[in-house]
Amino acid sequence: MLKFDSLEEAVEKTALFLEFCFGVRLIRQSDSVVLHASAPSLENHAMREVARIPVEICGENCALELIQPNRRVISAVFGESGRSGLMQDVSGAVGGLMHRDALTGLYNRRYIDETLPVALRTAHERGKALSLIFADIDRFKQVNDNHGHIAGDLVLQHIAQLMQKKISRAGSWVARYGGDEFIICLPGVEYHAAQRIANQLRLAIMNQQFPMDGGMIRLTCSFGVQSVQKFDSQHSALMLLHRADEKLYQAKHAGRNKVV
Ligand code: GH3
Ligand code: MG
Repeated sequence: MLKFDSLEEAVEKTALFLEFCFGVRLIRQSDSVVLHASAPSLENHAMREVARIPVEICGENCALELIQPNRRVISAVFGESGRSGLMQDVSGAVGGLMHRDALTGLYNRRYIDETLPVALRTAHERGKALSLIFADIDRFKQVNDNHGHIAGDLVLQHIAQLMQKKISRAGSWVARYGGDEFIICLPGVEYHAAQRIANQLRLAIMNQQFPMDGGMIRLTCSFGVQSVQKFDSQHSALMLLHRADEKLYQAKHAGRNKVV
């Protein structure tokens, strides 16, 4: 349970969440009075998801509501317990949010920058392979142009969920690099195995129907795979990303919906 000595303190500390949420509200539980609302205009946002976390302000039972573009971010950070209020510590939670992409709930660029060098060093020290998959949705701009930006956002969320579901191997992770680009890090996985994983993802996306404007659309994705083999001399994270990106470019150039 989070405890605050004054409403001012609660407002100040919970404002930290605004970088990642549409808005926050503090509500008194005894009479449901809204003590503070950071973004009232967003209350009726069609895509909002609200997580309620019990807090105490000046000894009174209150609730902190986080208004999000989707609940994935909330469950990624707090676990499903975010709903029942087991969050222990604001700073710890914000630390978790700093590594999450607000739209998809995947890890973000900052996580890639901080974690990939460590993963590479560990692979090198243990004499293990490591593979990186760089993925980019094909002709994604057309989704935005034809159906609007919010529809495009939903597609990004769907694809992120699909990738997350398919990459469940311990130690592996999926991140949104930016825009419609995703990074998958596979420690201990050799090049050919990583290519097979990328190909499974390619097929899964190609065969998926994405809900759009009351109908369905199909999409494809291109993939670049780059690996560091067992006992290779140590590579930099930047170089690995750069080479995976070059392969992705080749996949696009070869006609898209390909793994290189
Ligand atoms: P290509 O096959 O060459 O990748 O074609 P593309 O149309 O997918 O081109 P590109 O990857 O360069 O463009 C990505 C587009 O993604 C550009 C931008 O408008 C859109 N985009 C970037 N971030 C977001 C976002 O958060 N939401 C939405 N809806 N669109 C985004
Ligand atoms: Mg693209």
